[in-house]
Amino acid sequence: MILPIYAYGQSVLRKMSHPIEPDYQDLPGLIEDMFQTMYAARGVGLAAPQIGRDIRLFVVDTLQLEKPEKNFNGFKKVFINAQLLDESGVPWLYEEGCLSIPDIHVEIERKPVIHIRYHDEHWKEHIETYEGVNARVIQHEYDHIEGILFIDRMKPLKRRMINRKLEKIKRGDVDTTHPMRFVKV
Ligand code: ZN
Repeated sequence: MILPIYAYGQSVLRKMSHPIEPDYQDLPGLIEDMFQTMYAARGVGLAAPQIGRDIRLFVVDTLQLEKPEKNFNGFKKVFINAQLLDESGVPWLYEEGCLSIPDIHVEIERKPVIHIRYHDEHWKEHIETYEGVNARVIQHEYDHIEGILFIDRMKPLKRRMINRKLEKIKRGDVDTTHPMRFVKV
């Protein structure tokens, strides 16, 4: 089932998400719906707050970014109760966008290597290292479960330049191909 994506301005996007237990109601169904919603919206990652739930769950599929000519290996994974253990390396710029903030794409600086602990959909615990674009997508989704949006990481001057656009998104004055839920004004 494709779920509506909560837009910028919704308070759930600003909450610190809670860990969940293995008996969380219909978790397999929710994970399936999140993947379906992400693919329908042409995303490479989706976090639970973006579908209105403040729980520590996100899904990622960077296999979609694989191109034969590029030396890049993606993955498709579910991250439950993730904890970012550390980030390292020289910060690099990469253009990010967000399904909750349509039509805004900005280069954001983040460290290239991460170490993360999480449970997969079978509740197996993993501690893994990711780098480059794979790390980047995880960092973006991890921010969501901490109530942080990528625009928070913009330099203040640049951020001011998109303020009007953000206000429009808040009001629902934006064209998207996927269903969205805007703040009622
Ligand atoms: Zn996002």
